[in-house]
Amino acid sequence: MEHDRDNNFTSAREWMVESQIKRRGVSDPRVLKAMRTVQRHRFVPRHLWDQAYNDYPLPIGENQTISQPYIVAMMTEALELVGTEKVLEIGAGSGYQAAVLAELAKEVYSIERIPSLAHSAEAVLKNLGYTNVHVIVADGTLGWPPESPYDAIIVTAGAPQVPQPLIEQLALGGRLVIPVGDRYSQNLTRIRRTPEGDLKTEYLGGCRFVKLIGAHGWKAEEPDY
Ligand code: SAH
Repeated sequence: MEHDRDNNFTSAREWMVESQIKRRGVSDPRVLKAMRTVQRHRFVPRHLWDQAYNDYPLPIGENQTISQPYIVAMMTEALELVGTEKVLEIGAGSGYQAAVLAELAKEVYSIERIPSLAHSAEAVLKNLGYTNVHVIVADGTLGWPPESPYDAIIVTAGAPQVPQPLIEQLALGGRLVIPVGDRYSQNLTRIRRTPEGDLKTEYLGGCRFVKLIGAHGWKAEEPDY
């Protein structure tokens, strides 16, 4: 039988929100509530459960990582979700960011290029009862045309440039949040399509993500040094 450790880590999540997320300036009450709600430990390997609420990224297999909690909260806040949106995520990874989005939007489509990660993300999300997240194995640099356009698009891997298909699949009034830069550091970038159809770009700060690999991203065979 499974241990009911600290009430499912409720107090760890509270501490995470207070000491890492609010303190660094994330203030949207809906985002803070989602960060208190989603059981982050369920998205990391079991031997790392005790570290799931710490202030750093963790490995999730296949050389990929689940982002630091603050980064997830900050990027989510930047999407300005009110609950009615159709959201596209590129880089499902563990599925954690998708779960946070599922708490805050209507439908979430999350694309992952590595099948084993997609399958375990899907299993955890299903286990936790999320019915509005759809995990798809594909190259997310092409977006996901069948459900386009999207009110919000979030890319959780580092891109050499903004993939044109993602801009094309952004609804009027929509927001795209994407780390853009070289392999080692990126600028978190928000592109907004105004209701009139113009594009507005803002920079939200530095970050470091694993590579976005695909037709409009890095090439798979490029070495990491
Ligand atoms: N959002 C995830 C963390 C993402 S790590 C979470 O909450 O756990 C980045 C993920 O992007 C990796 O799983 C990687 O395989 C995936 N990825 C990289 N390039 C991709 C692409 N072109 N399409 C879809 N997924 C991609």
